[in-house]
Amino acid sequence: MNVVVKNVNIVDVKSGAISENSSILIQDGQITEIDKGSLGLPGNPRVIDGENNYVIPGMADMHVHLNWDGGPDPRRKVIEEGSKIAILRAYKNAMDHLRIGVTTLLDVGSMDDLAIDLSTAIKNGVITGPNVYSTGRIICIIGGHGAGLGYEISGPGDALRATRTLIKNGADLLKIAATSGAYGAFGAEKLESIQLDPEEIRTITSEAGKYRIKVNAHALNLDGIRNCVNNGVSIIHHGAFLDKETARLMKQKGVSLVPTLLVYQKLSEKVPGVMPEAIKKASEVIKHHKDAFLNAMEAGVKIAGGTDAYSPNFGGFPRIIDEAILMGEYGMSNQEVLRSITINAAELLENDKTSGSIEKGKEADLVFLKDNPIKDLKNLKKVTKVIFRGIEI
Ligand SMILES: [Zn+2]
Repeated sequence: MNVVVKNVNIVDVKSGAISENSSILIQDGQITEIDKGSLGLPGNPRVIDGENNYVIPGMADMHVHLNWDGGPDPRRKVIEEGSKIAILRAYKNAMDHLRIGVTTLLDVGSMDDLAIDLSTAIKNGVITGPNVYSTGRIICIIGGHGAGLGYEISGPGDALRATRTLIKNGADLLKIAATSGAYGAFGAEKLESIQLDPEEIRTITSEAGKYRIKVNAHALNLDGIRNCVNNGVSIIHHGAFLDKETARLMKQKGVSLVPTLLVYQKLSEKVPGVMPEAIKKASEVIKHHKDAFLNAMEAGVKIAGGTDAYSPNFGGFPRIIDEAILMGEYGMSNQEVLRSITINAAELLENDKTSGSIEKGKEADLVFLKDNPIKDLKNLKKVTKVIFRGIEI
């Protein structure tokens, strides 16, 4: 099926340039031609009038937990319900993203590796859904961040076993908890604690490296971040206490950051049912997070947008656009924010040959917006239409 989209303003997320009054030819789900004005109409295509909308590529959220519900205590909820209900919720949550134009998701922690099954079902065409990349369970220390749902290890032998098991199960990337977190109440969950040891981290990254599988790390405090940067981790998530020197080291070693700024603000609200320790720790994190984010920006660290969607008190709906708006408020330029939720994410996932920007040869994942998102990031909320692999959603 051929489709011609005409009369649109195409946003180049790489340069920030806008190509006005353009047309896009889509053949078998791929962009095959982009032109100013109108294109020829080969093979009697369906014509979509873009009505002078702005078109951006499908967006990405690089930190979601699709099996959770965003209520006060999602971990307890999935444990009570079990993984059969949880995978159905994960599917619903993935589709909610697709409908607003988020076409790529990285799930960084699910019970029983269920996000791997969701991803496989989509890849194999059992169900339709966005691109879901999954790490399966989080690898953490016994009683550490992610304990209860994660793969709890102790020592390099365990680390190797966990890594090989997750790769066997089909993880696209891995996720480790290098430090404690805000959401967690076991004894080891002190904000200042390091959790996985450098030797355990090195074991995981070197084994995963054999298969060119990248390792993501949950890391809040500085010592934990350093342990990751010095031991082969590719992507730091949260990075709440990142200082200038370590940011420069990240840049030097090509380590990227997914900051997840909004989730700690939401978690710090005093909402009944959310564990008091989490509220207290999140309140501490938000005092430092903006500086850490600015340190990363200043050092030129590659930043990709992610939310921690479906975490406690975060709501049962997609949040990447709210995160994008906050990144802008914290001092990132609108164009950089757009990059971070499109092409930067694609580069981190190594799928930038097929997605992340509107270019000939890439998949036709297009989000139509009533107004220009480079002028105002709030315009990302004015979605009028989503096309995913050439098909209108
Ligand atoms: Zn998370």
